[in-house]
Amino acid sequence: MDLTELTAVEIAAKVAGGQAGAVEVVKAHLARVKTLEPKIKAFVTVLEDSALRAAQAVDSKRARKEKLGRLAGVPIALKDNILLEGVETTCSSKILKGYRAAYDATVVERLKREDAVFIGKTNLDEFAMGSSTENSAFFKTANPWDTNCVPGGSSGGSAAAVAARMAALAFGSDTGGSIRQPASFCGVVGLKPTYGLVSRYGLIAFASSLDQIGPFARTTADAALALSVVGGHDPRDTTSSQKSPDEALEGLEGQIKGLRIGLPKEYFIPGMDAEVEASVRAAVDELKKLGAVVKDVSLPHSSYAVGTYYIVAPSEASSNLARFDGIRYGLSAPEARSLEEVYEATRGAGFGPEVKRRIMLGTYALSSGYYDAYYGKAQRVRTLIARDFDEAFKAVDVLATPTSPTAAFRFGAKTSDPLAMYLSDVFTIPSNLAGNASMSLPCGLTKRGLPIGLQLIGPAFSEGLLLRAAGALEKAKPFPILNAGCS
Ligand code: GLN
Repeated sequence: MDLTELTAVEIAAKVAGGQAGAVEVVKAHLARVKTLEPKIKAFVTVLEDSALRAAQAVDSKRARKEKLGRLAGVPIALKDNILLEGVETTCSSKILKGYRAAYDATVVERLKREDAVFIGKTNLDEFAMGSSTENSAFFKTANPWDTNCVPGGSSGGSAAAVAARMAALAFGSDTGGSIRQPASFCGVVGLKPTYGLVSRYGLIAFASSLDQIGPFARTTADAALALSVVGGHDPRDTTSSQKSPDEALEGLEGQIKGLRIGLPKEYFIPGMDAEVEASVRAAVDELKKLGAVVKDVSLPHSSYAVGTYYIVAPSEASSNLARFDGIRYGLSAPEARSLEEVYEATRGAGFGPEVKRRIMLGTYALSSGYYDAYYGKAQRVRTLIARDFDEAFKAVDVLATPTSPTAAFRFGAKTSDPLAMYLSDVFTIPSNLAGNASMSLPCGLTKRGLPIGLQLIGPAFSEGLLLRAAGALEKAKPFPILNAGCS
């Protein structure tokens, strides 16, 4: 049996039951990393030695007849903006090269407690700014379904690692779509939890009012397990909710019959890829066959979402990224003669072009005299966007939309046109602005063989409901698992 074909749920059960050893499972994944990584390049760091040591510790625990955790022996990939103590954490930026995390993120702490094994840190668009992982300062990650195409972004490495079965689960962050869009491009499940459900302590901040950590998985059951482990209150994150993951996952089991699904008319627009639209509509029809009631709804302020996001996110980024000053972390310009020169030279050499663009946009929007016209106004529009969702959720339980207007595109297709790149997130951004729950699941393949993602959006803390609908689809229309590795 190829152990990399097992889901996280299956691995944990087998390791706990003694049918497979954690070392054996981790070795199988590391072997797959060895074969595929030269083509895919999902990882910034592969943690071969520490993963094997951690797996050995899990097996010894079992030998001592101690109770094993819920993720015993499950190999996990972690986006390289989440801190893992003692391990280099770069955000795929030159400015953090060499920086070693001084502590574990809360999600890492909780995963370790359940005996998970960290197999590596994954590539991302620098500081999570981008939609293709091409903004990484180090190298590009390829889409395992077609290595001429991008894996999406910014959590492209995490999505590719799970799709190529180099890890059973991965974690990423989603500020405007960075879990859902790469999940859709790579044919895996990606969940953006409700704002506040998962602690961001130990996540290097991009835009704090939008950032959420969430899982990538090959099944909805794995995504639910991952959320139940990492979710829940954390006093170290002031935005952390009091809700438990069990409360959010309520409704996971149950019927589809009578579930009200809304199709927002603003999300089915001219210009979107016809194959994507057809596949999403077919998935919705499948849910209808299972007894769901489908209705048209409207989210009238949707067209302002991208514009609003590109004021709010860069503004918060310009403030969050001020801490990378050449004094405290990573790179420091050696030739500088004054404090100001240290700042200038370090930030000039350390940040890539997209990060600089965002810092400039954000600093401008926040500057005196412009604040009300830009940031203040964007916050007001954000409220209108959130209210659109509240209205829609009076009539329906969940919304179904495409995750992204297209399937994965080729390297270089959008790098010279930032606006075209930004539009890749046109359907995912509104959910971050509103702070509600959303996810992407694979719903089909294009004629060229690239995955298409269906996005489900629900009210805050409706993760159980989303995963129930997704699980029903997964059962009705099983998605092919990537066997060839890559093409
Ligand atoms: N692609 C969007 C951006 O570039 C979203 C990124 C994210 O969710 N981290 O900002």
